[in-house]
Amino acid sequence: MSHARSTEPILPGSTIGVLGSGQLGRMFAIAARRMGYRVHTLSPDEDTPTGQVADLEMNAPYEDLAAICKFASGVSVVTFEFENVPAETAAAAERCAPVRPSGQILHITQHRLREKTFLSQSGLPVTEFRRVVSLESLRSAAQEIGLPAILKTADFGYDGKGQYRIRTEADFEAAWQAVGEREAVLEGFVDFDCEISVVAARSVRADFVHYGAIENQHQNSILDISIAPARVPRAIAADAVEIAREVLEKLGVVGVLCVEFFVRKHGGLLINELAPRPHNSGHFSFDANVTSQFEQQLRAVCALPLGSTQQLTPAAMANLLGDIWNRGDPDWNAAAGIPDIKLHLYGKSVARPGRKMGHLTALASSTDQALEDVKHARDLLSRNGVSASSL
Ligand code: AMP
Repeated sequence: MSHARSTEPILPGSTIGVLGSGQLGRMFAIAARRMGYRVHTLSPDEDTPTGQVADLEMNAPYEDLAAICKFASGVSVVTFEFENVPAETAAAAERCAPVRPSGQILHITQHRLREKTFLSQSGLPVTEFRRVVSLESLRSAAQEIGLPAILKTADFGYDGKGQYRIRTEADFEAAWQAVGEREAVLEGFVDFDCEISVVAARSVRADFVHYGAIENQHQNSILDISIAPARVPRAIAADAVEIAREVLEKLGVVGVLCVEFFVRKHGGLLINELAPRPHNSGHFSFDANVTSQFEQQLRAVCALPLGSTQQLTPAAMANLLGDIWNRGDPDWNAAAGIPDIKLHLYGKSVARPGRKMGHLTALASSTDQALEDVKHARDLLSRNGVSASSL
């Protein structure tokens, strides 16, 4: 039975199922519980960021379809915070409950080739790419695209994992090994001015809302800082929103989706990738907007009217990666001492380099000020890091 077409609202008091159990699910669960919903989460892990605030944490591998069906049967709608669940998992959930966004959207966006093919066939601007299945095809793809280029695994890649930058022909073998000698995508290296994203939501009635263009700065291919609104010309921000609108419309998204873009040196936008869920670059909305991206996801998947995305104040967000813990626990007191800084921690007990442990959001009268404040606050945290043993 397909549940996808029902537009009946799922009202407060109902239970929402979240596949995946990281920080995105945690912030979703906080938003949902605030509005009187119950939240169940399923993932293979225990004591998770989402599980800590959910009503129920189920542990099962995503491949355990009987467990998925049992999980979905206990909730009114299933959404996800981790899009790399197998297609059979989404299909099993869809047999037992509505899944929003649909498994078909997961299927496209969890695979770079399918995603880029969908985008280019839809006439949307995407980085030039070629499919690579062998060292030989890598050589010919590189001849067509030119160097430098980036080789990326076709599936299950995020935050720069499974990527290799190819500068000269001497890099081919190392690149092919780096992606595990399996299906990959070769992308032209984009000479960009900056990176921006648009987080947007679409309802069961096809209403569309967005959070404007957000400016993103990366470190080692991991998002480091987001600034909202982005400091780009108005026309570029407007183009990005229009492209995002088309993406959500063409995919038929019910939920939240983020489109990441490169703003090219000589103007023009190229889509880098899509994430069919709230996104790290939209975290500022938790503190700065009337309706956060997480509440918006809730509203969309529950077939409620979408909320206002009005941003109340300029904002900047800085990720807190596990690296900050290198010198012991960060000095939370220092961050708490700055009145316009909001601290978010995800409840992860083990800090590893590159692991997203939390974030800071600064609210200020201008984006430049918010950026300065959030960097200052993060510096204070790490500089004042006190050794855990001295506590
Ligand atoms: P991804 O995981 O594909 O989003 O890549 C992570 C980051 O690596 C991006 O946000 C960019 O900063 C950089 N990057 C990825 N692909 C390209 C590209 N084709 N050209 C230039 N930089 C890229």
